[in-house]
Order: sequence, then C-alpha cells, then structure tokens
Amino acid sequence: MRALTWQGRHDVRVETVPDPEIVNPRDAIIRITSTAICGSDLHLYDGYIPTMRAGDILGHENMGEVVEVGAKSPLKKGQRVVIPFTVSCGDCFFCKKQQYSACDNANPATTSDMSETLYGYPMGAALGYAHLTGGYAGGQAEYLRVPYSDVGPIVIPDGLEDDKVLFLSDILPTGWMAAENAEIEEGDTVAVWGCGPVGLFAIQSALIMGAHKVIAIDHYAARLDLAKRLGAEILDYREVDVREALFEMTGGIGPDACIDCVGMESHGLGIDNLVDTAKAHTFLGTDRPAALRQAILACRKGGRVSVPGVYGGMADKFPIGAFMEKGLTLKTGQTHVQKYSQKLLEMIGEDKIDTTFLISHHASLEEGPSMYRHWHDDQDEYTKIVLKPGMERVAA
Ligand SMILES: [Zn+2]
Ligand SMILES: [Zn+2]
Repeated sequence: MRALTWQGRHDVRVETVPDPEIVNPRDAIIRITSTAICGSDLHLYDGYIPTMRAGDILGHENMGEVVEVGAKSPLKKGQRVVIPFTVSCGDCFFCKKQQYSACDNANPATTSDMSETLYGYPMGAALGYAHLTGGYAGGQAEYLRVPYSDVGPIVIPDGLEDDKVLFLSDILPTGWMAAENAEIEEGDTVAVWGCGPVGLFAIQSALIMGAHKVIAIDHYAARLDLAKRLGAEILDYREVDVREALFEMTGGIGPDACIDCVGMESHGLGIDNLVDTAKAHTFLGTDRPAALRQAILACRKGGRVSVPGVYGGMADKFPIGAFMEKGLTLKTGQTHVQKYSQKLLEMIGEDKIDTTFLISHHASLEEGPSMYRHWHDDQDEYTKIVLKPGMERVAA
C-alpha cells in the first residue's frame, strides 16, 4: 500500500510499504477514507519527539471502512468507523476508570521503558506517534491495522459524512476534555491560548458548557477569525499585552479559567520565549512553555488552568509561586477519547456541534508531503488538512 512515512526532521515521503495484517484476534483492518494532519504531527515533523524511526507511518486522526476483522473483533466488514488515537485495552485498572490514555497494556514493555524513565511510569499508547507510545503504525496510508478494535472504534451511522465525524478521533474530544478540565461554570470567563483546531473546539465546548465570555488568543488572522465566528472575543498577542488586556476585559479579576492549547512549541515575543527557543535548539531544554506561563499569570485567584497542549520534557521558569499563591488548579493529560466518543457523536448528529468549519484543505495522500510543508509554514491559510487516500480513485 501507499503510506506517508517520517524519514527525519522536515522530511516525510509517500512510499510503498507492506499492507497491514491481522496479528491479534482483536484486530481489524480498515481502508482509510479520511485522515487528518494534527498540530501534534508538527512536533514529529520538527523532530521534537524522541524515538521516531525512519519509515514510521504517521497519522492518528483516522477513519475508514472495515475490510478485515480478527476472530474476536465485534466489527463487521463494510462498517464505517472512526478510530480513537488512543490505543487502549479496555480491561486494565486505568481503562476501567475510563482513563483510556493511561492504559497499562497497550504500550508494549519493549517500547514503554523510555517513558518510564522520563515520567516515572510507562506511557499509554497512541497510533502513529513514535515508539515512545507503542510504535503503532498510523493511518496516513491506504490501510490501517486497528488494535483492540473491540474497545476503540466508533461505528458511524449512515448519513453522517466523513468531515462531520472524523475529528472524533482526537481534536474534538481533546477540545471537549480541555473545557471539561477547566471546570467551567455558568457565567464564567474563559481565556484560550491558541486558535488551532484544538483551541477552536475548546472554545466551542466552553460556550456549550455555559461560559459567558470566551477570549481567544493567537496571532494568525484567519484562525482568530474562526474563533470570532464561534462567538469568542479575540486578542492578537502581537498587538496587545495579553495579561493587561485580560485584566481589563474581566473587570480587573482575571479569567476564571485559562486553557493552553499551544503546547511545547510556543511562539511569542517575550524574552522568556527567546531563551526557551535557544535552549531547545541547543538541547539544553526541551519545551517552550511561554503560553502556559502567561496562562498561569493571567488566571484569576482560585481559578483553573487546563492544558491540552502537548508537552514532552522539561520546562524552565514554571511560575510555581503564582500557581501556589493564587491557589490555582491545573488539569491536563492526553485525551481519554473513548470516554467521549458516544456523547459527542450524538451531539454531532443533533447538530449541536459543528466540526466542518475549520477544514481548509482536502488533499490526496500523494500530496501529503507538500501538505506537511504548508501546515508547517502557512498556518494562517491552512487551518486543518484532511487527506483522502482514495481521492484519485474517486476522481478517475
Ligand atoms: Zn491529533
Ligand atoms: Zn487498558
């Protein structure tokens, strides 16, 4: 089959690779109909995630048609399914608590050792996201092996096209869990750093959960415009002092909740971010947490900070004093996708959530490498890219 493979920093290629096979009775194979490029794929593209190997197949936001099933898969050939990016066994201590991204079984011992050293315990597993998280092949390809196909995939009813449901795989539940972690109460003011896809879904979710005012922070005009269309007030951090603006917009109190949808590769003009960038480039530090620092400093006393943005290593100058003295609550984590799938699918079916507004480009799989370049370089124009491996065939 054809698949988009990682070869090194800023080098992805579409190559012919062996077709995936059923290796466990709980597996299924799907023919990919839609697979999105995620903001977190840029961390791989930029070479910030260790344990990538040349030839690894990328892609963790996948859906398609079931074409083969193992003896213990409940799926049926021909069903349309969306696949959570989290690979979870469904049976362990964590899965039973619906903490699917912490699954203790899905990340094989041979690949989880490094994360145990880094984080104290082995990480859970994800599709298409380095050997640190299991080394599972991703779905930016014609076919995908779905492990634990009895736990993850959600069957899509007829009549809901791919663009409406594809993001159940990651960014929609990620935005939703970010808002849930912000413990939003009726009437709250919520500030969201980063208007990428996760930020936009966090904004939409916060408003659904009863936020009175959502303030979106970014510097890309098109992304701020999408946030505005959802009902957010917007701040361009190049034009205003974010903390001062938030202070004024909240009557001097500060936002009740702050959501960092930026993560480890923060842009920013502050001296702290310039130092972080220099350290990251010289391997003296790994993460650039400028957005997180700002969120902690801007948050009101007794407020909540939610972090769906991805961090991987060590952060410098974490404002622990502000965090403690203001009595903040911090919640974060990889998304427990399976916990939210059914509820969010129903909300999509009832038109309570729109997921299509942020898609800027559809492209064939063969166009993948150029799409990665655009996703990296032209973020104002490319707000979300969906690859369609069958696209040429459809056109022919
Ligand atoms: Zn993603
Ligand atoms: Zn588990």
